Amino acid sequence: MNPDYFMRQALNEGRKARGICGDNPPVGCVLVSNGLIVSRGHTGRPGEHHAEAMALANLQEGLNDISAYVTLEPCSFQGRTPSCAKALVESGIKSVFVGIIDPDPRNNGAGIQLLEAAGVAVTVGLLAADVEHDLGPYLLLNK
Ligand SMILES: [Zn+2]
Repeated sequence: MNPDYFMRQALNEGRKARGICGDNPPVGCVLVSNGLIVSRGHTGRPGEHHAEAMALANLQEGLNDISAYVTLEPCSFQGRTPSCAKALVESGIKSVFVGIIDPDPRNNGAGIQLLEAAGVAVTVGLLAADVEHDLGPYLLLNK
């Protein structure tokens, strides 16, 4: 299956966060194993799960060789919730596909570095124009 297909599913997932995620970006995430989507997540209310954390929480145990598709770079810092980049590393995920880098100065590449330092294969820029469109208001805030 084409990586764009899974990023499109992550975009659809992120749209579910609109109107509930407060000042957080409406991010979507899907987890893929053996060419199948095995879990989905989107940004919850402020202080609740981020997209990646929700997808990991919904993941069945015992699956391996999992890839994550996330519209925005996973967060590297502890804010109102724990770092998603760290949670992905701890889950043993093998590869992460990211739409765009997070312009928030607290992140801005640090999430990617954290993943790569742990040996996770990271690909950035998948469907970037679509992600920028969906995250427009958030990107304007962080210009
Ligand atoms: Zn996060």
